[in-house]
Amino acid sequence: MGKVYLVGAGPGDPELLTLKAIKALERSDVVLYDKLVNKDILSYAKKEAIKICVGKERGFHSIEQDNINDLILEYAHLGYDVTRLKSGDPFVFGRGAEEALFLRMHNVEFEIIPGVTSAVGLPTHAYIPITYRGISSSFAVITGHKENGSLKHINWDKIVGVDTLVFLMAVSSRQEIAKHLIDAGRDPNEPVAFVENGFSQNERIIITNLKDLLHNSIEVNTPAVMIVGQVVNMRDKLRSMEVALCKR
Ligand code: SAH
Repeated sequence: MGKVYLVGAGPGDPELLTLKAIKALERSDVVLYDKLVNKDILSYAKKEAIKICVGKERGFHSIEQDNINDLILEYAHLGYDVTRLKSGDPFVFGRGAEEALFLRMHNVEFEIIPGVTSAVGLPTHAYIPITYRGISSSFAVITGHKENGSLKHINWDKIVGVDTLVFLMAVSSRQEIAKHLIDAGRDPNEPVAFVENGFSQNERIIITNLKDLLHNSIEVNTPAVMIVGQVVNMRDKLRSMEVALCKR
């Protein structure tokens, strides 16, 4: 029986992989990776390893979860070591825990390797500190993915008291999110940032506010992380600091 590694690939930059992730890739005979995983990361796997994209982006699965589970199990039964490579961290909206439970039920040995989640890594990369003394002492990571066409599963009254809100899978629901937050009492002028296609050549950082997001059609493409909170204003300060230092 092979061993399965449930591995977080981080938010896109191969240099943000962990050493443990690289070791797992080097050891594995099979790599099953998600669509959002940067393909350059696959170069750490053995040349002869079987590499299969099992889709998964924004909740749409090109291969259903049951089939992914079966695939992992099949290869493990064949005696192959398998890396299941997921974007960010495997347990942050990644269904990694479901795969782990499935493997536990089938008595397959597995190891979980954390990754840098896009919910933290992309704001930081964009010079947006999700906590900052005196401005933000809490943050929440929330899915913007609709369930049965609605966002009712989110407890808006509860999250409205959290300083910084980070939404994943929120591009198509961004206007509704802005409306819910304003209705729940957030300041309509509160800044909002999107980090689109983080760490890729197409990366874009879009800065707006809740009111504009609700009333104007602000273009944002997937994948993107949405950050709501006063800390978004820190971006300009931190970047101008960078310019000042470079000039010295
Ligand atoms: N497990 C992942 C999240 C999976 S859900 C993690 O911990 O990061 C997929 C969502 O992650 C996307 O819809 C988007 O909101 C975010 N995401 C992941 N990689 C991204 C990237 N390179 N650029 C922008 N958003 C990204």
